[in-house]
Amino acid sequence: MKLKIKETFTSENPADSILKNTRRQVTEAAYSFTIPKKTKDPKVIHVSQEMASELGISEKETTSDFFKNIFTGNKIYPNTRPYAMCYGGHQFGHWAGQLGDGRAINLFEVAHQNKNWKVQLKGAGETPYSRTADGLAVLRSSVREYLCSEAMFHLGVPTTRALSLSLSGDPVLRDILYNGNPAYEKGAIVSRVAPSFLRFGNYEIFAARKDIKNLKTLVNYTIKHHFPHVGNPSKKSYVSFFKEVSERTLELIIHWQRVGFVHGVMNTDNMSILGLTIDFGPYGWLEGFDHGWTPNTTDNQHKRYRYGNQPSIGLWNLYQLANALYPIIEDVAPLENILNQYKIDFEKQWLAMMQSKLGLFMSDDQDIELIQNLEDNLHLVETDMTIFFRKLSDFTNEKQGLQLIEKAFYTPSKISSEVKNQWILWFEKYSLRLHKERISSKDRKAKMDAKNPKYILRNYMSQMAIEEAEKGDYSLIEELYQLIKKPYDEQIDQEKWFVKRPEWARNKVGCSMLSCSS
Ligand code: AMP
Ligand code: MG
Repeated sequence: MKLKIKETFTSENPADSILKNTRRQVTEAAYSFTIPKKTKDPKVIHVSQEMASELGISEKETTSDFFKNIFTGNKIYPNTRPYAMCYGGHQFGHWAGQLGDGRAINLFEVAHQNKNWKVQLKGAGETPYSRTADGLAVLRSSVREYLCSEAMFHLGVPTTRALSLSLSGDPVLRDILYNGNPAYEKGAIVSRVAPSFLRFGNYEIFAARKDIKNLKTLVNYTIKHHFPHVGNPSKKSYVSFFKEVSERTLELIIHWQRVGFVHGVMNTDNMSILGLTIDFGPYGWLEGFDHGWTPNTTDNQHKRYRYGNQPSIGLWNLYQLANALYPIIEDVAPLENILNQYKIDFEKQWLAMMQSKLGLFMSDDQDIELIQNLEDNLHLVETDMTIFFRKLSDFTNEKQGLQLIEKAFYTPSKISSEVKNQWILWFEKYSLRLHKERISSKDRKAKMDAKNPKYILRNYMSQMAIEEAEKGDYSLIEELYQLIKKPYDEQIDQEKWFVKRPEWARNKVGCSMLSCSS
């Protein structure tokens, strides 16, 4: 396995001068050199061959001991120096100070086919940023991160990727529900990959410490490698950089809303500067369409990171980034303009996204009302978002409307006549609206099906794969991995996954109740 190693981040940003792996405040540095922990009995249980080939690794090479040892942290790739990054963040609305890569260790950068990838391990042991925790990860959260990052990629949602999922062979102690019942679980390591793992929090920490010199160094690095088109470092290019981060963040969140993904922990340390989905913790997918839903039980009280709140949280987080960049821009007006534009763009892009889900391509002022009525209806009784939109593409006339979406109702036999009437009314309006379109039903269906996935990675599906994996059977991980590669395709032989969440999963830990414990 011969990789084309590059070194841009560590060579162009300030390093922590202390080499000891002790938990501490790390100042005037963007990262600390850190060696992954050796594990007892590493075992690779799945590899994303698509991602491997992006890095220039062949399928045969992924089966080697060398691959296993590198991607579980048991061996350091020649001439590389692993490191953990320093960042801070606003968690649940409050400044939390230094956080950093507490259980992520960056191995190296790989250049392949004109792309530059950063490769990191999640769960490979403590770093100076581990605070009170152990730097490790358990199998359940690692399966979820591994599968979901690949699922997002194939859904066309910007995301960090995953290369491999491995067992460490070491037990890890966790209290899943934070209720005083800790238990040992299998330790695991995910190797994940992205053009950059920089987060809003990497910039915030320098600004909070008034370390403007290093803030500038990091912004200049980011522009040079990831936003070169905004121009050479200057106040003007810093503003353009922020504008593009704002646009990418919005684009990302519009995608999340489209597929019904709820991140669950949109703290600024989990916001990628490239607008990627990053850090898959207590995330989830809407089953019943519900603006108020969050999968994260840690956030149960205020539901800050609920589905319907994600767009405004994106904006709130951008305000924090704007504050962090202010010292190198020193002008409020252009930052405010960009933040105001986010709201205007959100309205436009949300409408266009919803229209595309409904197969509406001609412009019509009434569409906002039609969509709002639809969302109201979706809240009347528990209605599965994915099944609803997927079924809708078969709509041809208002007479079949209700029958068409019956499969999306969680309790179809209990639908009152009042609810039925609301739906009949809506389908009448939708039918009338479709008359304005100029494309055939067949073409409309094809376009809608390309926006409304048939297969999403529902929490109960991951949970089933996790329970099997805990017993040493990884076949369901492979089955789901194959399924999520074509989320918009019919995949007739996989219809068993085109179903509502089963009742057993309604209140089960890992399915509808997730915490940050991972
Ligand atoms: P999260 O909310 O999962 O994104 O994590 C917030 C912060 O806690 C980040 O700085 C993580 O690196 C850190 N963290 C989470 N879990 C662990 C762990 N098991 N060991 C060390 N640090 C952790
Ligand atoms: Mg995080």
